[in-house]
Amino acid sequence: MFNKILIANRGEIACRVIQTAHRLGIRCVAVYSEADRHARHVAMADEAFLLGPAPSSESYLRADRVIEVAKSSGAQAIHPGYGFLSENTEFARACETNDIVFIGPPASAIASMGSKSAAKAIMQDAGVPLVPGYHGEDQSPDLLRAEAEKCGFPLLLKAVAGGGGKGMRVVESMREFDEALAAAQREAKNAFGNPDMLIEKYLTQPRHVEIQVFCDAHGNGVYLAERDCSVQRRHQKVLEEAPAPGLSQETRRAMGEAAVRAAQAIDYVGAGTVEFLYDVDGSFYFMEMNTRLQVEHPVTEMITGQDLVEWQLRVANGEPLPLQQDQIQLRGHALEARIYAEDPDHDFLPATGTLRYLRTPDENSHVRVDTGVTEGDEVSIHYDPMIAKLIVWDDTRERAINRMVQALEEYRINGVKTNIRFLHALADSAPFRNEALDTGFIGKHEDLLFPPAQLDENLGLVLSACFFLLRSKAEQTLTADPFSPFARQNSWRLNSHYARPMQLLADDVEHSLRILEQDNHFQIDIGECSYEVRAALDGDRLQATVNGHRFTVCGDLHEDQLVLFHRGETFHCALHREQFGLEEQSGEGGLQAPMNGSVVAVLVSPGDRVEAGQTLVIMEAMKMEHAIKASGNGSVSEVFFGEGDLVSEGAELISLELDSEEAA
Ligand code: ADP
Repeated sequence: MFNKILIANRGEIACRVIQTAHRLGIRCVAVYSEADRHARHVAMADEAFLLGPAPSSESYLRADRVIEVAKSSGAQAIHPGYGFLSENTEFARACETNDIVFIGPPASAIASMGSKSAAKAIMQDAGVPLVPGYHGEDQSPDLLRAEAEKCGFPLLLKAVAGGGGKGMRVVESMREFDEALAAAQREAKNAFGNPDMLIEKYLTQPRHVEIQVFCDAHGNGVYLAERDCSVQRRHQKVLEEAPAPGLSQETRRAMGEAAVRAAQAIDYVGAGTVEFLYDVDGSFYFMEMNTRLQVEHPVTEMITGQDLVEWQLRVANGEPLPLQQDQIQLRGHALEARIYAEDPDHDFLPATGTLRYLRTPDENSHVRVDTGVTEGDEVSIHYDPMIAKLIVWDDTRERAINRMVQALEEYRINGVKTNIRFLHALADSAPFRNEALDTGFIGKHEDLLFPPAQLDENLGLVLSACFFLLRSKAEQTLTADPFSPFARQNSWRLNSHYARPMQLLADDVEHSLRILEQDNHFQIDIGECSYEVRAALDGDRLQATVNGHRFTVCGDLHEDQLVLFHRGETFHCALHREQFGLEEQSGEGGLQAPMNGSVVAVLVSPGDRVEAGQTLVIMEAMKMEHAIKASGNGSVSEVFFGEGDLVSEGAELISLELDSEEAA
């Protein structure tokens, strides 16, 4: 076996490969861009080398630099992951000429599948069923038009060099054909530098079912069942599962054998995926072959109990396949959800930002998280916005779905918008549970996939109020000197008999709450509604019984912004500090900046007498002004900053000498 390999990738797949390599005692060399200096894959590797600036074209796509690093670090093989250089014929060839093992198929096999039309021709010869249509070289408009007529409508125009759903157009009738052809050709030319098109009959309710194949260098080939990836958005996979619901043993065998024939027709070695369209009548048609490990490979691993990266390493090392066809057993059902940094409410635009709060479900034999990020990491504009893959397994599909729904509820992210709630709605929807799958699933069930908030707004406010109260108490207990008079001056006196107001801003609307605290429980009034609440906060987990109904929510409180996580959805609100008086600083009378920002005005000078609640300094952060007020009566002994100064969170702004409690 190799003793050192290089992983020419980043993110979750780089981490995934390193994990298996380490288990097999293989050292790992990582490569990274300037944006990824502190990335998880770099930290996990035994050695890491900088490739260049953040853009992929200057880093992860620099084949020459990758080869150079492999040679200088003594790596015997390169694992390309998926994307980047994984299906680049030149790169695979460059590895060969430099005596480095490319952990993937021979360059010639990648080249054969690089063009969708050439691939179809090869498959036709190998007796693999194709979607009816045209995949010839002649691209004259008249011929394409005649072929379209022959194929019938609706039809699909597809870029020969395509990928990622680009350069594809559905054409409903001859009238639309010329215009659609011109548009698809333009898009293909821009995206792939090649305007050539193929024509396919457009199946209206197909499923996307793909077969995992594996071949070794000794002529053996097997299939490791299939994955159903029908749940797609803009022809991109969102939720994948294995095995495909309702697929008969016979169809599985027929598809599997066709896939192995397809692979062997191009002298394939390593992991590959043969994608099929599976039609309502049970027929299936070859779509394309991906000559790499797929994003969704974990669902296959979960139902076969095999580690496909280990298979890749063994095969690349010249070993025979670990199992023969009749030794491959399927067990249970697995699902994978792709967690993306994107905004489902704004047409799924990619989102960026810092993962300032990140909690993942516990991993065990049922739940697996493949990710390349940790809390505090940045999701940047430079790379794919996938944050993680959440994979679950159980005996039956129904139970696996329940696991998925639960695990999504335990996946909590703040700082970057994600599709978690969307995935939750999707996995939990009746049509998904009922196996009503086809590639139009998301479009068809849009009304179910963007459900209104489940958590009633008042409840959200009540739970938020508890969170603010209990957190501020916990902080005061932690920081305050128990003998300080301020510990007793705490605005949240136990057993006080007067109600305090609290102003919360949710969805741009101000809400006035009145809170009465008595013997460890609260009475919270919002307008005419009254809530009896018992609550306890443990870290970020709030357990509250509201009018007899028990809730468990988690919260991330940052400055005065709170996000509550409840069953896969979030509730956002902000506290108005002025009304609440949380900015009162307990302790020695020093006043600290509550956030990073600038000083707008200093309203006092050393020696001035001040009264509790008097505004001393005004700060600004993110275009919002915050008043810093005196925590008690006293006099100013020192002022540390002036107007226009930048200050960091926690910096002391003013030192106050407070009057003793007796004097006050
Ligand atoms: P790309 O390589 O751009 O991802 P594919 O050929 O893999 O394109 O197709 C992507 C998706 O488009 C498929 O998963 C399927 O949902 C849809 N699709 C492709 N061909 C057809 C077809 N002939 N009829 C209906 N849908 C199709």
